[in-house]
Amino acid sequence: MTLQEQVAIVTGGSRGIGRAICQVLAREGATVIAATRDLDTLRQWIRDEPAVRERIVPTTLDVTNRTLVDRVVDETVERFGRLDILVNNAGVTRDGLIMSMEDDQFDEVINTNLRGAFWTTRAACRHMVRARRGRIINISSVSGVSGNAGQANYSAAKAGLIGMTKAVAKEVAKRGVSCNAVAPGFIETAMTDALPEKLKGQVKAIVPMQRFGLPAEVAAVVAFLAGPGASYITGQVFLVDGGLHT
Ligand code: NDP
Repeated sequence: MTLQEQVAIVTGGSRGIGRAICQVLAREGATVIAATRDLDTLRQWIRDEPAVRERIVPTTLDVTNRTLVDRVVDETVERFGRLDILVNNAGVTRDGLIMSMEDDQFDEVINTNLRGAFWTTRAACRHMVRARRGRIINISSVSGVSGNAGQANYSAAKAGLIGMTKAVAKEVAKRGVSCNAVAPGFIETAMTDALPEKLKGQVKAIVPMQRFGLPAEVAAVVAFLAGPGASYITGQVFLVDGGLHT
């Protein structure tokens, strides 16, 4: 176990990629604050994981609520005495073509995927910089690297997250804190389940590995970035996309 004694916050741990990240960090020995709006779904999967459930702490969090974000981060440090890892995973899509995209469609996606990560990162950095130790890992997207039609809002948020990753990395590196991004391609979760079957077929045809990725394949990269092997890596973007963007 590479993360024993460490404490992590993972936003959006109720399902999909966030759930896989909580599982792998807990398997590596970390205490994981799994923060989400949907505690019932979160508690359900934790119940089925006897090997790690003692190390996962279900916590209510809406990342678009700044007061809650500050409270969850501060209470984690008060209760456990430390915060070593922050994974900004919470995300939503509200796709639409640019000419018909409503303001609230744009705002919701920016507020959840980008502003929420700004708030958690700011709150976490205050503790991590003081402790001179920390790993921040932002879940961006291949859409933020290459853009995706119908996702101007989401691509902007995920590209913004990459910019923030690089800026924060430069600010906090000398204090022992790193900040990296993981940019998944198409991964099998509720988010991609919603896509029309025809589109899924088209996507598989253009992905060099000819398939969607699994949440565990993203979580494995997050675990690496949180672990001892990534001690000299910061400000980087790791694509986990089956070769889609090269
Ligand atoms: P899911 O829709 O399956 O899960 C999204 C998670 O985000 C849920 O746990 C949800 O929890 C949480 N969430 C959403 N809004 C909020 C909020 N306001 N506050 C707290 N939690 C929130 O998506 P994925 O697992 O697929 O996506 C996880 C991340 O990976 C996202 O950032 C997504 O953009 C990114 N990604 C996904 C890809 C894919 O192909 N699946 C590709 C590239 C990136 P709840 O609703 O319970 O609060």
